[in-house]
Amino acid sequence: MSIGKKVVITGVPGVGKTTVIDASMEALKAEGISYTSINFGTCMFEVACDQSIVNDRDEMRKLDQEVQKSLQKTAAQVIAKIQENIIIDTHCTVSTPGGYLPGLPSWVLQELKPDVIVLVETDEDQILKRRLSDTTRSRDMEGYAAIKDHQRYNRYMAASYSMFTGCTVKIIKNLDFLLENAVSEMVELLR
Ligand code: AMP
Ligand code: MG
Repeated sequence: MSIGKKVVITGVPGVGKTTVIDASMEALKAEGISYTSINFGTCMFEVACDQSIVNDRDEMRKLDQEVQKSLQKTAAQVIAKIQENIIIDTHCTVSTPGGYLPGLPSWVLQELKPDVIVLVETDEDQILKRRLSDTTRSRDMEGYAAIKDHQRYNRYMAASYSMFTGCTVKIIKNLDFLLENAVSEMVELLR
């Protein structure tokens, strides 16, 4: 039996990864192509809840680094068992009090073996605005420069993940009022 396609989708908090994924999956369904979308953070959060160490998914990035890595490893092992077309909604790096934590360190990449890593990006001012208007999440209050640094660092990390696994890296812009452009690029990639 052939193993499905594995697409990792990343982007800084508030860039609209989940929105792009949901709309792309909907468009593909109409063509009879099915993907299962897995949220890496949700997998980690379920493990963290079982251990009663957090109440909110946005508390996880403040946990001790070793605890985050342990949750990350467990989530990767769970996701690795899925043998169908999957979209993994996650982060290239997580901004923690101790610095940028790699979202896909070698042991995670070895489990997931992605075919492609997508970086969803947009202008920093748009991200700032999206974070401010999202009342459902405890987003970090970062300025324009910090968001710019984070997006740039994510590109460096995506390059290193690509060197490590041989996967491709695809950059998709999710600009204000142009969601349909991001979706059509994503659909083309997933088809
Ligand atoms: P999200 O809903 O995508 O913003 O993810 C929620 C939280 O899950 C993030 O703030 C991180 O704490 C954690 N998370 C998600 N993906 C990863 C990953 N690959 N490695 C480490 N932590 C992650
Ligand atoms: Mg999301």
